[in-house]
Amino acid sequence: MTRKQQVEPYDVLIAGGGLVGASLGGALAQAGLRCCVLEAVPFAAADQPSFDERTIALTWGSRLIFAGLGVWPQIIATDAEPIRSIHISRRGGFGICRLDCTGMGVDALGYVVPTRVLGRVLLDRLQQALGVDYYCPARVEAVQPAVDRVTVQVKTEQGSLQLRGDLLVVAEGGRSSLREQLGYKVYARPYEAEVLLTTVSTGQSHNGRAFERFTEHGPLALLPMRENRYSVVWTLPAARVDHLRACDDAQFLAQIQADFGYRAGIFTAPGIRLRYPLARSRVEPLAQQRSVLLGNAAHLLHPVAGQGFNLGLRDVAHLAEVLATAHQHGEDLGSDRVLQKYTALRRDDIRRVQGFTHGLMTAFTQQWPGLSLARQIGLLLVDSLPLVQRRLLQHTMGLAGPRSQLSLGLPLARPTGENE
Ligand SMILES: Cc1cc2nc3c(=O)[nH]c(=O)nc-3n(C[C@H](O)[C@H](O)[C@H](O)COP(=O)(O)OP(=O)(O)OC[C@H]3O[C@@H](n4cnc5c(N)ncnc54)[C@H](O)[C@@H]3O)c2cc1C
Repeated sequence: MTRKQQVEPYDVLIAGGGLVGASLGGALAQAGLRCCVLEAVPFAAADQPSFDERTIALTWGSRLIFAGLGVWPQIIATDAEPIRSIHISRRGGFGICRLDCTGMGVDALGYVVPTRVLGRVLLDRLQQALGVDYYCPARVEAVQPAVDRVTVQVKTEQGSLQLRGDLLVVAEGGRSSLREQLGYKVYARPYEAEVLLTTVSTGQSHNGRAFERFTEHGPLALLPMRENRYSVVWTLPAARVDHLRACDDAQFLAQIQADFGYRAGIFTAPGIRLRYPLARSRVEPLAQQRSVLLGNAAHLLHPVAGQGFNLGLRDVAHLAEVLATAHQHGEDLGSDRVLQKYTALRRDDIRRVQGFTHGLMTAFTQQWPGLSLARQIGLLLVDSLPLVQRRLLQHTMGLAGPRSQLSLGLPLARPTGENE
């Protein structure tokens, strides 16, 4: 679908209309900026990388950002299930840790939402918003930054076109190619594991409880879904993913039951089994030459702690606020001053979450001498020390560090005299 209403140049061009790019389009429209979202793959296509069979865990912090954007009522009304507690354990170990929302004074630690549901709400918002042009299918093939503008070459079904803006946001995901064209340094490493993703039911009510179980094959997460189903996110060596996908349903259920145990009940009715290769990456810098990297294009994480999109949504909230303020003061949105302001706000959060996620994977998958005991003691300590637990939850719920206006659940102000 192609929709064009604005006159060029745009304030902001967004390459990639996945979870992060679509969220940013909605945020910039709320702030009264004129932007263009360019998405290569249609929403309903089988190979749409952002809106697929996955369910993802949104933190309480992300709930607040979506509330500020005015789309939380639509998300919660469709297919979101609250996570009220998390049970963390290691198979064969004595340590367990239980995290609960009551100590944080909130209704839920987070929510489990199918990415397609989230995508539908975000795209509906984009299509209704004034000030946003949405092109799809439209692939950004080349970028030319200049002193006063950035220009992109876009391939659409109707042919090629050229669009100009003050700033280009690269929200192309973890395999971004524009990053290299723009001269960013990308440090990427694959993990020697993949994710097997599926769903299961159990006979017993989940009561909003999620599980993270570290097994000898890899971490196994169960996330509560509607109708007492669980989303299963199981990190495994590739050969074991092959094996589990080739199994029939009864064999698969026997394997997951053996690795997880019976704490959640007896598993039944497995869904389709999908695989995702895993990698981690970071970039230097986060912004330069009238461009900003956002979401997975800026930081690819292991999904073990369910932080990737939540981190990207905090990028969105801070960038939208920095740009809205600059716009109100008549500043050049692609200037080094504006880009540095954004970078200064995001650098620490990104590093912290990257370190936490990779550290968690290393701590629970390596077999170094003494590490097993340290893991058990670590779990018990977090379980028994409320202050440590609170601090951990503040970080994993996306409530630590500098808070943007949207992350307080408040909408971005439009310039005086403008109505949406
Ligand atoms: C198995 C798994 C489970 C996960 N679970 C969670 C979770 O529980 N919680 C969480 O927070 N995160 C989770 N994540 C991470 C989350 O999915 C990502 O962080 C999120 O999808 C990143 O969104 P994005 O928009 O940056 O990138 P993507 O989702 O990759 O979207 C990029 C978009 O850009 C488009 N595009 C690419 N190149 C171009 C171009 N040149 N021109 C135009 N368009 C282009 C693509 O078609 C795509 O639509 C999980 C990831 C995996 C793999």
